[in-house]
Amino acid sequence: MISTTPPAVFQPQLSAPVTENAADSGHPLSRSRRNISEPAKYWPQNSTLKIAMYEYDMDDEYVLAVKQAASEWLPHINLKFEFVPGEEGDVRITQNMGNNGGGSSVLGTEALDVYPGYPTMLLPENHKHPRFKYVVMHEFGHILGAHHAHQHPDSHIPWNMDKVYEGYSRIAGMDRQAVQKNILPLPRSSQYDFLPYDGDSVMHYEVPYALTHGDWGQSETWSLSDGDIAWAEKAYPKAIPAIA
Ligand SMILES: [Zn+2]
Repeated sequence: MISTTPPAVFQPQLSAPVTENAADSGHPLSRSRRNISEPAKYWPQNSTLKIAMYEYDMDDEYVLAVKQAASEWLPHINLKFEFVPGEEGDVRITQNMGNNGGGSSVLGTEALDVYPGYPTMLLPENHKHPRFKYVVMHEFGHILGAHHAHQHPDSHIPWNMDKVYEGYSRIAGMDRQAVQKNILPLPRSSQYDFLPYDGDSVMHYEVPYALTHGDWGQSETWSLSDGDIAWAEKAYPKAIPAIA
């Protein structure tokens, strides 16, 4: 979504984080996007992710909102999510009480390398915000092993780099390294699985016109796209049901 509000607000880093856009509503735009993932960081097939919700700062309504949004992925993968209170889990979620309200997550099994007791995912504090579900789905995409769709080497986003570095520094406190990690194209490496174009990936940031050359911008999509679902079904394929 393009907005007159600041185009992008990012959360300072966890240990090995992916940071997130916290921009708000606007107008739908045309887009050209791709999906990227990192198979080496996928979880074991058919496994159960134990997801700890830090109970001291979450009420039941908040936990339910997270579960409902995260569960959007479940019909398309062979993993199970087991939500538990407390601080012990493969994935550990806490609320982002900072001033920008964004989310962040490590990528896939990188969560296992995060020091025990530290969160692996931050989610916005306000679960009643209409963007909350999008952020949760996006962060769970990361925990499943998905990178940012806008970082595909073929995305051809005409970034105005002076404005990108200045904008993300001013609005989100991101240094150049953080911008390169979260915004710019990834190398074309066999480390990644590049899927075909996906016009509506939940893993794509808003691209504000103000940060590009020419008349180029893309909005956020607040639901899983057909491309997201195709990726999920490829990454964690469900067994074909036996015919009785
Ligand atoms: Zn992200």
